[in-house]
Amino acid sequence: MNRDQGRRQMLRDIEEEVAFTRSMTGRDHLDPRVMAAMAEVPREAFVPPELRYAAFDNGPLPIGHGQTISQPYIVALMTDLLEPQPEHRVLEIGTGSGYQTAILSRLCSEVYSIEVVPALTEVARRLFDDLGYQNIHLRVGNGYQGWPEHAPYDGIIVTAAASHVPPALVEQLKPGGRLVIPVGEPYGHQELMQLEKAEDGEIRTRRVLGVAFVPMVDRDPTGGT
Ligand code: SAH
Repeated sequence: MNRDQGRRQMLRDIEEEVAFTRSMTGRDHLDPRVMAAMAEVPREAFVPPELRYAAFDNGPLPIGHGQTISQPYIVALMTDLLEPQPEHRVLEIGTGSGYQTAILSRLCSEVYSIEVVPALTEVARRLFDDLGYQNIHLRVGNGYQGWPEHAPYDGIIVTAAASHVPPALVEQLKPGGRLVIPVGEPYGHQELMQLEKAEDGEIRTRRVLGVAFVPMVDRDPTGGT
């Protein structure tokens, strides 16, 4: 299978899984803009070279440091649940491979992303330079604290499983904004949640789907740069 066939197959697999899970997610199909971003960003550039043959499979893949690049369907669904708009400034927790970051960068005006493993930030930074994605801002840090200097955000997406919804992230969300986050036990029961902050600050929470993410660790970065 060549690259174009691979990408087309990946898009079909996403559509199939969206249809299969529609009773849980409330989504029959995803925003065409989200699907266009999934078609545009070269997922093969975000996986380790030795796994490139599997880049378009609808599953997660290891990226080193005990972490994974998320499954394409989950990336697409979470992006859709965030309802990104061209003028939005969004925050991501868990840069990892940078794939979700890249998807968001095609749909929003600015993307801020925090990663706790410095080596992953470095690899992602080089990749964004190579791809010419210029509206991405990376930082090494503990995502439980968010990135207050650029708050408030139109949307916040967390791509590791948190034990609870971090209060700092709720605080850094704009009224009218959404937070998409997996919450649950490390390697145990986890649920993808969508929180909406109403204009009066009230928080509405919806459980979307059972998921399996690597844990969000509540610690400062280690491992040097
Ligand atoms: N969006 C990424 C997902 C990577 S897995 C991708 O598709 O490639 C989740 C990432 O969250 C890992 O890289 C992990 O190191 C990171 N992470 C875990 N806890 C974190 C924290 N407290 N702050 C920031 N990043 C964290």
